[in-house]
Amino acid sequence: MDVGVLTVVVAALVALMLRRVVILRRDWHTARGFATGFLVVCVVILMTASAFEVKHQWVQARAAALVAHASGVRGADAECQRFTPELIDLSATSGFVFSDSQNVAHLRRTVCNDLFTWLLSNKRAPTDGQVRAVHITVHEAMHVRGEFNEARAECFAMQADADAARFLGATRAQATALAQRYYRDVYPRMPAEYVSGECAADRALDLTPGDGQFP
Ligand SMILES: [Zn+2]
Repeated sequence: MDVGVLTVVVAALVALMLRRVVILRRDWHTARGFATGFLVVCVVILMTASAFEVKHQWVQARAAALVAHASGVRGADAECQRFTPELIDLSATSGFVFSDSQNVAHLRRTVCNDLFTWLLSNKRAPTDGQVRAVHITVHEAMHVRGEFNEARAECFAMQADADAARFLGATRAQATALAQRYYRDVYPRMPAEYVSGECAADRALDLTPGDGQFP
């Protein structure tokens, strides 16, 4: 579990709330009205903040499980970007892995948000963002595995997308459809360094050779 600003806020709210409960139990008559009102406000804010924090920790744990599964690296981890860092992140990157701390996949906040909504959905009609979110997590897992060539990582990831979707709860048909959709709709629009004419993902994805941009 990582500790962010929201974690501290939740902890502070819990402390504040406990303090108010103690004051009320003491029946501190001069402050009773204020303490009750303040307690209600604290509970409402705490419930809201906790919901966001639980969401962050849960989707991050699912992403970490997927990265470990797809990379085959024990102890592999994932880190979902929090709200505050995203505000100052002007990069266009969706995810990255540091070569000197290779077992952690760093995922953009939007990727984790899309992964979260996909995990909660019935997975029958994923959005483009949700398809990309599953794939990006797998792509970063390929870097965790040690493949830092973008075209090769992308190619391996496309062949692992269906298995990844199954791992996260999709049916076989949903998983295959998700992997094929990335290959058909997203891959051809990726920057040149991510694309390779040698990638035989079309065969692995049970697509007719010639689909996408491969000969
Ligand atoms: Zn990459």
